[in-house]
Amino acid sequence: MELARQLGALRGEIIQSWLRRMRTTVAPANLPREQLLDSLPEFLEELSTALSGEVDAKLESAAPIFDSATAQQHARQRLDLGLDTIFIIREYGVLRDCIFSAFEEAAAPLNSRDSRLLSAGVDAGAMRAISHFVHLRDERERQALGKAHSDRASPESALQTVRRAEAALQESEQRFRLLVESVQDYGMFMVSVDGRVSGWNPGAERLKGYAAEEIVGAHLSRFFGPEDIAERVPERLIHRAAVEDHSEYEGWLVRKDGSRFWSTVSLYAIRDEHGTLRGFSNVARDNTARRRSEQTQQFLSEGGEALASSLNYRDTLEQLALLPTRWMADWCAIFVLSPDRREVFVSHRDPEKQPLLQSAVRAVPEPTEERRGVAEVAKTGEAELCPDTKEASWVRAALGVETPEQLQLLGARSYICVPLKVRGETFAVMALVSSEPGKSLGDLDLEAAQELARRGALAVENARLFRDAREAVQARDEFISMASHDLRSPLTSAGLHIDKVLRRARAGGANLEREAVTADLEKLQGQVSRLIQMMDSLLDITTIAAGRMQLEKQSVDLNELATRAAERLQEDFARANCELRVRTEGRVEGVWDPFRIEQVIVNLVSNAVKYGEGRPVELMVEGDERTARLTVKDLGIGIAYEDQRRLFERFERVRADSGVGGHGVGLWIVRRIVEAHGGRIRLTSREGEGATFQIDLPRWPTASERPEHRLH
Ligand code: ADP
Repeated sequence: MELARQLGALRGEIIQSWLRRMRTTVAPANLPREQLLDSLPEFLEELSTALSGEVDAKLESAAPIFDSATAQQHARQRLDLGLDTIFIIREYGVLRDCIFSAFEEAAAPLNSRDSRLLSAGVDAGAMRAISHFVHLRDERERQALGKAHSDRASPESALQTVRRAEAALQESEQRFRLLVESVQDYGMFMVSVDGRVSGWNPGAERLKGYAAEEIVGAHLSRFFGPEDIAERVPERLIHRAAVEDHSEYEGWLVRKDGSRFWSTVSLYAIRDEHGTLRGFSNVARDNTARRRSEQTQQFLSEGGEALASSLNYRDTLEQLALLPTRWMADWCAIFVLSPDRREVFVSHRDPEKQPLLQSAVRAVPEPTEERRGVAEVAKTGEAELCPDTKEASWVRAALGVETPEQLQLLGARSYICVPLKVRGETFAVMALVSSEPGKSLGDLDLEAAQELARRGALAVENARLFRDAREAVQARDEFISMASHDLRSPLTSAGLHIDKVLRRARAGGANLEREAVTADLEKLQGQVSRLIQMMDSLLDITTIAAGRMQLEKQSVDLNELATRAAERLQEDFARANCELRVRTEGRVEGVWDPFRIEQVIVNLVSNAVKYGEGRPVELMVEGDERTARLTVKDLGIGIAYEDQRRLFERFERVRADSGVGGHGVGLWIVRRIVEAHGGRIRLTSREGEGATFQIDLPRWPTASERPEHRLH
């Protein structure tokens, strides 16, 4: 509706610029304005009306977007003026340009649907006018011949009449051929009554790839795919054109090299002066680009829906791998750049080949010497289009196929590799492969694949965020329930002690002896300080998470802090029947927050006891000019590689139900404290072989914190 309205509003400008451009280029100088203009305003009005109706569906079908009545009138007028088909083709071409410029100048940019609609509308007019023009011209020639014949009234032999008619027809065909030779957009050729190619022009050669000598004499069905031949489409087109003078087809045609292109074909009957069918003329146009962009739009919008339909990370990637195989690729693989490089999602157009693909493509490939394919795209983040692999030997490694035999079975004649990015970072590479020689992937496919990758990456990221958020909420809930459980036990036992003291106080006398009461109160004090400690660490979580941790730095000795922490943990070690070996080499001074650093040591060492299986734990402090190093080493259960990273996140534990008390916040707090001091923490461990946590702290994080004597 909006498009129709805008076109209506711009009609004046379009007509003016069309007249100007026609005058300077195509139109004969002596042609009066009115005659040049003819029914153009009406055509534009007709187009507006057509666009305000239901035209969208027609873009997808073979039907012309509308059947222009004025175009037919217009063809007659052009013929009367002695103009030719080239003129008509050109004037509609100029009209298309003028429409697009008018929209541009009016700062009303067209979206792709609207430009396709406008283009299809102008095409519909052009095709109608040309076909009618050719038809009328032949008709007139036939009549003229017939008239000459009857005017003469002398009994001329039938043979002579036919010869003259044929000569005229040939002349007409020749002229027609000459006329269309310079036309870029349209391929035209002639077809005999029995459906064989009888004339061929360069446009047709460009469109279909055959030289005249190769194709003249071949049946029209040569241009159709096996499906259409099975349906007898070529024969039906010819039959219809013979009966109704005109027939149309829109669909995929086949070039000489086997590749396909989307085209409209219009067959027009050519008759002699007796009305006898002499053959057909044909106008065809390559609309592949339009068709592809329509299909791309359609697939992208369907794809968007499919991708949005799941918030599951794996489902989304599986969906994404599936989409291109319903469209441009024979097979597709998405390689996630995870640490083990073995997360790959694949899809094959042919379900029978899916198992083969699954066993052939299983890991992110290593870089190739040629610097092509998946590994290169992962590295550079730039998409790659390979329109023809020429089946070179590097293709196997570029696409991550394990053996040459598997590649042979899967086929890879052309491919596209596009990165999937989140915030500029490539997290996966999608490879789209076409294995049919005739269906090479091109620039249009590359654009579409990039758009699909953009949408896909977004959907995957959404699914990932959703998964993380859900897990975080779950972890927090678990934490809350564990923390409340843990807070409850010292409270219960504090309550018991209070009860006891209260009973004594109420009973009075000997019950109130100093020693007994003091012992009860001391126990109570112990519970309260445990509670305070727990509350402190809870508070820590919130302050640190909110980025409000304040360091109170002063000059301290790391050795002293380590020794103090070790003393504090003495009891834990005794209880676990475990030995703590502290190794220090003199003073290692630095400017740090002593309370926080002690917290780091206590956390790491108590983990070493908790998970150390009773084996000795080592605590080492060393330092050089700039850095202090603290190492906590145990020989316990260890941590598997895949768990190591996440343990430094909040609420993360290897197994939530490991039977050892803990909330999964210790290491998170440690990391935050170390980072706040400008330091780094490193973990080396293997499952079952103990764990070593190493912390490097800059001794004087900023120049102003350096002691005076070290300034030079
Ligand atoms: P928690 O309170 O659960 O101990 P932490 O953040 O300190 O929380 O540790 C997180 C998880 O890391 C622990 O639950 C445990 O699974 C693992 N972990 C920490 N230290 C060690 C260690 N020295 N050996 C083995 N696993 C460890």
